[in-house]
Amino acid sequence: MDRQVELYDTTLRDGTQQEGISLSVEDKLAITQRLDELGVQYIEGGYAGANPKDDEYFRRVRTLKLRNAQVAAFGNTRRAGAKVAEDPSIKALLDSGAPVVTIVGKASEFQVKKVLGTSLEENLAMIADSVTHLKAQGRRVFFDAEHFFDGYKSNPDYALQALRVAADAGAERLVLCDTNGGTLPDEVGRITAEVGKALGLPGGAAERSASPSPAPDGHPSPRGTGAKPALGIHTHNDTDTAVAAALAGWQAGALQIQGTVNGYGERTGNANLISIIANLQLKLGATCVTDAQLASLTGVSRYVAEVVNRRPFPFQPFVGRSAFAHKGGLHAAAIEKSAQTYQHIPPEQVGNVNAVLVSELAGRGSVARLVRELGLGMELTDADHRRILKHVKDHEARGFSYEDADASFELVVRRSLPNYEPPFELVDFMVVVQDRIGRRGAVSRGAEQPGGGSALLSEATIKVRVGEQELHTAAEGNGPVSALDAALRKALRQFYPNLKDVRLTDYKVRVVNEGSGTGASVRVTIESADGGSIWRTVGASENIIEASWLALADSLEWWLVHNARER
Ligand SMILES: [Zn+2]
Repeated sequence: MDRQVELYDTTLRDGTQQEGISLSVEDKLAITQRLDELGVQYIEGGYAGANPKDDEYFRRVRTLKLRNAQVAAFGNTRRAGAKVAEDPSIKALLDSGAPVVTIVGKASEFQVKKVLGTSLEENLAMIADSVTHLKAQGRRVFFDAEHFFDGYKSNPDYALQALRVAADAGAERLVLCDTNGGTLPDEVGRITAEVGKALGLPGGAAERSASPSPAPDGHPSPRGTGAKPALGIHTHNDTDTAVAAALAGWQAGALQIQGTVNGYGERTGNANLISIIANLQLKLGATCVTDAQLASLTGVSRYVAEVVNRRPFPFQPFVGRSAFAHKGGLHAAAIEKSAQTYQHIPPEQVGNVNAVLVSELAGRGSVARLVRELGLGMELTDADHRRILKHVKDHEARGFSYEDADASFELVVRRSLPNYEPPFELVDFMVVVQDRIGRRGAVSRGAEQPGGGSALLSEATIKVRVGEQELHTAAEGNGPVSALDAALRKALRQFYPNLKDVRLTDYKVRVVNEGSGTGASVRVTIESADGGSIWRTVGASENIIEASWLALADSLEWWLVHNARER
């Protein structure tokens, strides 16, 4: 079964509307490349003419060699009362040089009258003029019908009329936008089907697969194209159903699905294209990407998270670190019988892996199972098992917990083996925190410092051994932990330059009273990422600096064990 679908990514335009996300031109170009490799057909690069950054993007993206994707520029229809050829927004769309332009226009009577403040007729003329003009200049035109579902519910005739004028003028896609994100999936499905019927377009996904190129069926073709337009669907996640709504729209007849990587977008976000691709391909029988591209989903999701500087959401369906997690030992017996017992798909299909939560290590048997589940591929003797178990129990008594830190557990196992060579060893460290009033020439302190920080200076000095060599480095940081991190990396980078890819994505501190009762200790859990893998490490001590150091050192050691043996 091969149902047609078209993926349209708007991470670079709608995705950047989410608070806290800002992308440089370099970032946008890098993401474009990655989306192209993923097999997305259309990449909306930005708002033409809205800012110099987006214009530079459109200039530079032309030099990329894209294999699958066409770049789309986004913009408005001409303004009310203006001549289309002189309209700055239309001109900017043409200047972008993008082969596809997506123009947004109103399809809601309420929006036209109350927000646009123009007549219903003029709004239709704005749509028709803009599409006609852009087509005449040789562009492919997609029409985003803003507030479509709300508009359709209050005045279906006018909403349909807006689509008809766009189609008649030659728009290839009529994209039904749930701009405010308030429409539930069943309603999106019903209305999409009604629109398809009213416009004489092929019906749901099943029907379309039967006749991939719609045959003439008596309905007039839109002028200028000779082919019927297709519907698209653009949903937002305000009711937590954006993915379901997008899929419902597709099942009801939309060809194009718009979304963003990881669902980034205004307010609560857009439809998450990562989940949409996985669902289409693995659940709905559509072929939108190759198996290899599907297996790159986790990588793409984490890569984009990295670029937008967001911590990858551990519980994100399909690609999150915990999407295929299970407690070690608990389901182990069942999983050994069949891998499908506790997971809805094999994680490798989307490029993810099982995460094993290290907990309830009862005996040697459970250590052995965990080592196997973590895929460490090590032969352990009974003595090794006993040593590991003892080490874990001793450390748990001191406040360590490995449940959230499988990378530290892995190191415990490795270190218990006689032939393990750590990539580095700490000789000693010193951290100084000093209040330097007047630093950087500032006369004031505390909240008046840039960024609300104080004039506190943290400096760390460390001594590490790598092989035969001993290294002594110092670095500053905005706190003692970041100073230690900086000093350690500075030392190790000389041996392992790739270490620069490793980024600290989360740092958690908890006071733990469980354990031996020798007083409260502090547990630090660190999550790190390198744009592909995510791993967690733990440290515990009565001293927060030492706890942080242990987690930090484990993080870098784990990465080096896996990635950088090439000294
Ligand atoms: Zn949107």
